[in-house]
Amino acid sequence: MIRNIWAVGRNYAEHAKELGNEVPTTPLFFLKAGSTASLSADKIILPSWSEDIHHEVELALQFNDQLEVSTACLALDLTERKKQNELKAKGQPWTLAKSFSGSCPLSDFFPVEDLAELQDLALVLTVNSEVRQKSRTSQMLFTLPQLIDFARQHFPVCPGDLLLTGTPPGVGPIKAGDVLKAEITGKISHQWVVQKNLI
Ligand code: ZN
Repeated sequence: MIRNIWAVGRNYAEHAKELGNEVPTTPLFFLKAGSTASLSADKIILPSWSEDIHHEVELALQFNDQLEVSTACLALDLTERKKQNELKAKGQPWTLAKSFSGSCPLSDFFPVEDLAELQDLALVLTVNSEVRQKSRTSQMLFTLPQLIDFARQHFPVCPGDLLLTGTPPGVGPIKAGDVLKAEITGKISHQWVVQKNLI
């Protein structure tokens, strides 16, 4: 069970810059509710009220019973960018922009024997076969051990929780009918079709 999703913002310098943000000197954490996770689904349902949902592909680590990392997956940290910009401008929390229903699609999990395996992997997201995000996990500002230590020191991390490690540059809007394919080369890939919420 995923109780909490501890997510990191601005962990790739080029992504911080593309949104006009300063590069942080300590990790910038925010929360997505555990119940936003949707595991191994093949659809992304856009909220009816949303106008500007962006993709953010990320490597997600999962804590085991000893609060070590022994599994990982791909996550889409879906973000309502218009709302986020409004909230940022007012200095208000990002909950509506980051933690709406269905905002954390996940791939299947894969085993991690040693964190070193994850330190220099290619992370790619295509939309309708066009590459939108492509980087390497070695481009992170804070390393995986630094993020894990920071989370365990400051937060009530529970077994099963996820740590989303930030997104590389290239974020952008998605719309109904788009096909998103995320990949960590050599580890895992997953595909989603975007649909409108018709309710
Ligand atoms: Zn993100």
